[in-house]
Amino acid sequence: MDQTFASLDDTAQGRAAAWLARAQVRPTRQRISLASLLVGDGQDRHVTAEGLFMAAKSSGESVSLATVYNTLRAFCDAGLMNEITVDATRSYFDTCVEDHPHYFWEDTQELTDAPAGAVAFSRLPDPPAGAEISRVDVVIRLRRT
Ligand SMILES: [Zn+2]
Repeated sequence: MDQTFASLDDTAQGRAAAWLARAQVRPTRQRISLASLLVGDGQDRHVTAEGLFMAAKSSGESVSLATVYNTLRAFCDAGLMNEITVDATRSYFDTCVEDHPHYFWEDTQELTDAPAGAVAFSRLPDPPAGAEISRVDVVIRLRRT
């Protein structure tokens, strides 16, 4: 699986700091580094914790995989990212928090955006008593033909 990341240059770190500030996330040095890799070029991306961990390592940031996971979860809790679970062993983290469907490419294990607005539900089940639907994740699995 090939994931591309932004860099850790000053512009990227500036964008990262602003991104964290928007959600009032305390800008520790490690968070700024991880956020730079995620949003430093102003592009949205879908990443796995492992992918971000490798990118951090290769840019010289010493951080554990557990810290990367915790940081991604903290970014999700702050509303900066969404976690998309593809299967029991695989979660992706998306910097685009607008409601949108995804394609999951089974051969490359890649998650990409599907056209927003191209999915329509004619019916959803009523939520159980005392509950409401907070979000519907749509992952369309693709096999190349
Ligand atoms: Zn997405």
